[in-house]
Amino acid sequence: MNANLDFDRQHLWHPYSSMTNPLPMLEVASASGVRINLTDGRELIDGMSSWWSVIHGYNHPVLNAAIQSQLEKMSHVMFGGLTHQPAIDLGKLLVDISPEPLQKVFFADSGSVAVEVAIKMALQYWHSQKQPQKTRLLSFMHGYHGDTFGAMSVTDPVNGMHHLFNNVLPQHLFAPSPATPFGEVCKPDDITQLKELLKQHHHELAAVIIEPIVQGAGGMKFYSADYLKQLRLLCDEYNVLLIADEIATGFARTGELFACNHADVSPDILCLGKALTGGYMSFSATLCTDKVAEGISSGEAGVFMHGPTFMANPLACSVAITSIQLLLEQDWRWNIKRIEQGLEAGFAPAQDLPGVADVRILGAIGVIEMHKPVDMTTLQPALVEAGIWVRPFGKLVYIMPPYIINDDDLAMLTHQIIATLQKYE
Ligand code: PMP
Repeated sequence: MNANLDFDRQHLWHPYSSMTNPLPMLEVASASGVRINLTDGRELIDGMSSWWSVIHGYNHPVLNAAIQSQLEKMSHVMFGGLTHQPAIDLGKLLVDISPEPLQKVFFADSGSVAVEVAIKMALQYWHSQKQPQKTRLLSFMHGYHGDTFGAMSVTDPVNGMHHLFNNVLPQHLFAPSPATPFGEVCKPDDITQLKELLKQHHHELAAVIIEPIVQGAGGMKFYSADYLKQLRLLCDEYNVLLIADEIATGFARTGELFACNHADVSPDILCLGKALTGGYMSFSATLCTDKVAEGISSGEAGVFMHGPTFMANPLACSVAITSIQLLLEQDWRWNIKRIEQGLEAGFAPAQDLPGVADVRILGAIGVIEMHKPVDMTTLQPALVEAGIWVRPFGKLVYIMPPYIINDDDLAMLTHQIIATLQKYE
């Protein structure tokens, strides 16, 4: 092992990793377009968009130029008492492209913080409405909302290993994972327990939090848009706010600009992150309605009690504006359809592999679910050997490539996944 990898192994935590028994690491020298270049000279076709974020590919000249041009003006300035053009332009753009009722924007550092902000908005809103007992959240089994404590508390209690943190995590409520598949009308049974929970607990519920259409890290499940429609109606009926976590699904990944658009619903609070900056840096936005914002601002505190140091970082804002413009100025609907068709064709042979339980595609997301959890110690090196970067977890071998991937690279990516799984079984 070279000195770099040795240091890494001895000293650096990686996501969900052990410091005593770490999995092997690959060292990246550079990345460009859909290719990740390793220091040992190997080149991998990227299937992950670095966890949903790098939608335009790596090292994009237009995104690079946006950062460079902003860098010459200022890389950062505090947002308390000061404002700037990149924040104003990005705010305008987000208000413009998100569902109409969302009018107010809070910029923060990462997806998890966007979720913390959303939860705090809901709590402060009800406090100001003289309903301070509305402090609990209702979330869903197989939901995932991040790793900070507030976000973790609304993440699937089994996957999130809540028992490890039981004494410190707020105790929230969990409805069953939506079961009606995408494209179908919600089966009445599917919302029975959700309805019951709302009926019984609405007086103490501040908000329902959900990942619209795609439950991501908790299982890559695609569910009925009609379910989301019914959830919106139930939230209205029971006077509970709806928080949509579009940190993974936002910016066209599912074939609509926001996954909420499949159901034509607007949440009261919306969380965005990941692809917001084209994957250039960690950044997020939490949007809310006038009603929520006015409620918070007329409460006891008179202000929203949050203000991170790097709020509205100008570099992040400017690359986010440029990334969104790049997306909007292309025929993204056609392009996501093209990727969807490529994934359907490429993954079709997976249906017949013995270890495969399910194959599902939605927009630019392709999922092969195995019967058993995969063995990363053998499967990961085999995928790399095949020249592709795919990072399975649990039973899931899944990809969400950068939108710039061409048909040949997409065919190669899916073909090599199938070929590797054939050998792996
Ligand atoms: N919500 C969802 C739906 C996510 O997929 C993620 C990240 N995987 C997060 C929140 C947390 O975002 P971050 O990792 O940027 O904190």
